[in-house]
Order: sequence, then structure tokens, then C-alpha cells
Amino acid sequence: EASTLSRIGLAGLAVMGQNLALNIAEKGFPISVYNRTTSKVDETLQRAQNEGPFPLSGHYTPRDFVLSLQRPRSVIILVKAGSPVDQTIAALSEHMESGDCIIDGGNEWYENTERRIQEVSNRGILYLGMGVSGGEEGARNGPSLMPGGSFEAYNNIKDILEKVAAQVEDGPCVTYIGEGGAGNFVKMVHNGIEYGDMQLISEAYDVLKNVGGLSNEELGEIFGEWNRGELESFLIEITSDIFKVKDDLADGELVDKILDKTGMKGTGKWTVQQAAELSVAAPTIAASLDCRYLSGLKEERENAAEILKEAGLKSGIDKKRLIDDVRQALYASKICSYAQGMNLLRAKSIEKGWNLNLGEMARIWKGGCIIRAVFLDRIKQAYQRNPNLASLIVDPEFAKEMVQRQAAWRRVVGTAISAGISTPGMCASLAYFDTYRRARLPANLVQAQRDLFGAHTYERVDRPGAFHTEWTKLA
Ligand code: NAP
Repeated sequence: EASTLSRIGLAGLAVMGQNLALNIAEKGFPISVYNRTTSKVDETLQRAQNEGPFPLSGHYTPRDFVLSLQRPRSVIILVKAGSPVDQTIAALSEHMESGDCIIDGGNEWYENTERRIQEVSNRGILYLGMGVSGGEEGARNGPSLMPGGSFEAYNNIKDILEKVAAQVEDGPCVTYIGEGGAGNFVKMVHNGIEYGDMQLISEAYDVLKNVGGLSNEELGEIFGEWNRGELESFLIEITSDIFKVKDDLADGELVDKILDKTGMKGTGKWTVQQAAELSVAAPTIAASLDCRYLSGLKEERENAAEILKEAGLKSGIDKKRLIDDVRQALYASKICSYAQGMNLLRAKSIEKGWNLNLGEMARIWKGGCIIRAVFLDRIKQAYQRNPNLASLIVDPEFAKEMVQRQAAWRRVVGTAISAGISTPGMCASLAYFDTYRRARLPANLVQAQRDLFGAHTYERVDRPGAFHTEWTKLA
């Protein structure tokens, strides 16, 4: 009978699922949980006892699980993206009825969500693709949630999502994103921006360590200091903490013993692919992806390091100034990276008719997620001032900051280049800035070449129309 039925269900009790289920239960919403491998159901029940007690019930078959829910039923699934999601939908939906809803909380490719929306709609089942950010900690204590798909299904669980999400001063970090796969797409771009942030921070570290000669202790202090200013963010904070951790297997700090090969799961690659598909320049995010690929070539790099001996020039360094310059270069580079991510969101929103509210995207990223940062509030305000802003870097406030930071930014990139220390993310951001801010580019020459060898025609600056010239006859 209704009183013993759960308000919501969650299937898939790995890291994310277990923690999100406990979070929902802790907020007082009775929840049923299920996992293909049933030992995880018991594990979750145990945790609900230890950390609670919370209103959480465990179920061992898809049927018992689904039938334990109030109608219309809402079932969150948090399993490995791809075919496991299809298999889980097949197993659960067999017992679901018209009006019930499936919510996929995984890092899913948005087109898979759009396909599944169609597939389940035949039986009247509603569907949401919901990006969940913040990792394990976020899931347990308040993630940033990006639900897209059926608005009706969103309204069925809006009260739960608003309680469970991270809370910041202007509300819970959740909003209805848009139709179809909009929620998954926004989560994907969030992850692409995260790649950019992490790359830029690693470059700041590289320059300070290898050009400025800073010790881990100094780096910990500097990042800690930066976390009290305009760069205040989760990633800067954890970076400061990382430098302080001693190696428990040998001397020194752990960070120096970690193999320099970065892993990845695909959302960064998808972001860069989508940027290319939509003809949106996203060079900082692309540079961070390329760097992950190059980091994977450890053996080749060790070999190349022998052959391509360092040719860097190290001139005298004013350490204090370098530190302040790097802070400014990091900030300016980061704004360019966010401008790219936001413009990608807008281009996709136009293509799909999603009507994405970019200011709201910045707002729901202010808490719970990996890219949470104080300056996201300023991005929110920039889009509130002008929802049609062509680029974040021409918002009056950001533009002023970019102009003020130019000199420091150029000094850092120039010094790094001279020293032979690569800073692909900062260079990409600076080149993006310099390309975007120039009223005239050498694209005229490219057009002339295209017209010469392919008769592609060109436009003129002084009169309308398409022109073609027999270049070789005139040369
Ligand atoms: P995961 O390692 O991606 O997946 C493990 C879960 O998937 C287990 O519950 C497993 O069940 C289930 N599963 C795998 N294949 C299955 C199948 N064929 N049928 C039914 N169930 C199947 O788990 P996760 O790390 O918690 O991540 C879940 C989702 O959230 C993923 O899409 C991930 O990308 C996303 N995400 C993760 C993080 C993070 O920090 N980990 C952050 C944000 C988003 P069994 O126990 O039976 O094997």
C-alpha cells in the first residue's frame, strides 16, 4: 500500500549510485535501491544503517525493486555508460508503466539519451538524462545536477533534486536544462572545461617549479594564497593540498613520485569533437586533450628527451614577479577557456533549439561540481547583463580584466617559451584572445590562395559580391 512504497528508486550502486542514494535518503525521501550484483545492495543497506539510519530499502530483483515505488515511478540509474544503460533500462522498464520515468545519471553521450527517449516513449515512459558532477563527495553531500529531457518527469522529482543538490547562496545547484540530451551535453562541456582548468593549473605549476624553482612547500603556499583571491576554486584548493602530502613509501612529497601519464574517459574528446562539428573554436580545451595524449607517450618522450636536448634559455628570474604573473596568466587563460565552452553550449543550443540559459549553467556550477569557483558567479552576471553576449571576453568587466592582465600573461608565455617549458593551454588561450581581438587577420592571403588554386572566389573589403581572379596570368 502507498505508505510503504518508496518515493524514488536508484539502480546501480557503485561509487556514484551508493553515495547519491544515501544523500537522497538522508534528505528524508524514502528510497529503494537495486544493483545487478546484489552484494552492493547489502553494502548500501549497511552504510544506510551506519551513517543513518536513513529511509532506504534494498531490493534484489528488478521486479521487486520497481514494484516498491510510488507511482508515477521515478528510477535513477547510475551504471557504466553505454550498453549497460540499455541493459538496465530493458530489465527495469519491463515492470514499469505509462507515466513512470527513468533518469540516467551517468556520463552518457547525449545522442544515446535522445535515442532512449524515443525508445521508451512507445510505452509512455518518460526519460531524463541527468549530468551529475562532483564525484563521490559531491554525490554524497550535494552534487551539481544537470537534468534534461522530459519536463514533466523533472517536475515529478524537482523537490528531491533541489534538496539533494549542492546549495549556494543563490539556490540549489540544479535547474531544468532543456529537452532531449541537453543535460548530458551540458555535463560533457562541463567536463571539457574541467580538462582545460586542470591543464592550465598544471602549466602554472610547471612554470613555477621549472622556471621559478619553487619547492613543493612554496607551491602549496602559493596555491593556498591564490585560493583566497579571484582564483578561489575547488581545483586550486585541492592543488594546494596535494603539494603538502608526504610520500609514505619514500622520502619527499608524493606528487613527485606520480607517473606523468594522464588517464581519461572520453568526455573531453567528445567536447573537442563537438566543437569541431559546430565550427566553434575551442583551442584551450583541445590543447588540454592533446596534452593528455602526449602524456601517454611516456617512453617516446623519454627517448625524445635524449635526442632533442633542451635548448631553453634561462635568464635571471624575479621570483616574486613570476609568481604574480603566473597567477594573472592563469586567470586570463581560464576566462578564454570558459568563453570557448560557453560558446560551444550556445552553438549546440541553437542547433537543437534547447534554449539554454548560459547564466543558469554558470550558476549551477557554482557548487557541488569539480569546476566550482567563485568567478562562476561573475560569469552568471555577465550573461544576466547580456544573454546574447558574443563572447565572455568582451563582457565589459571581463574585457577590462583581460586587458589588465595581458602584459603579465605575455611575460609568462614568453618566459616559458624561452625556457623550453611547454604551456600549450596558456598559449592556446592567448592565441585565441589575440586572434579574436584583431580586426584584420591574414585570412585574406588564405582566401587568395584558395582562389588561385581552386577558383573558390573571395569577397572584397570595399565592395559587395564574389570575385575570382586569374592570379597566375597576372603574377
Ligand atoms: P561505474 O564504475 O561506471 O559502473 C559500475 C556500475 O555499473 C555497477 O553498479 C555495475 O553493476 C553497473 N553495471 C555495469 N555493467 C552493467 C550491466 N551490463 N548491467 C547492469 N549493471 C551494470 O560506476 P560509477 O563510477 O559509480 O559511475 C556511474 C556513472 O556516473 C558513469 O556513467 C560515470 O561516468 C558517471 N560519473 C562518475 C563519476 C565518478 O567520480 N566516478 C563522476 C561523475 C559521473 P555490478 O555491480 O553488477 O557490476
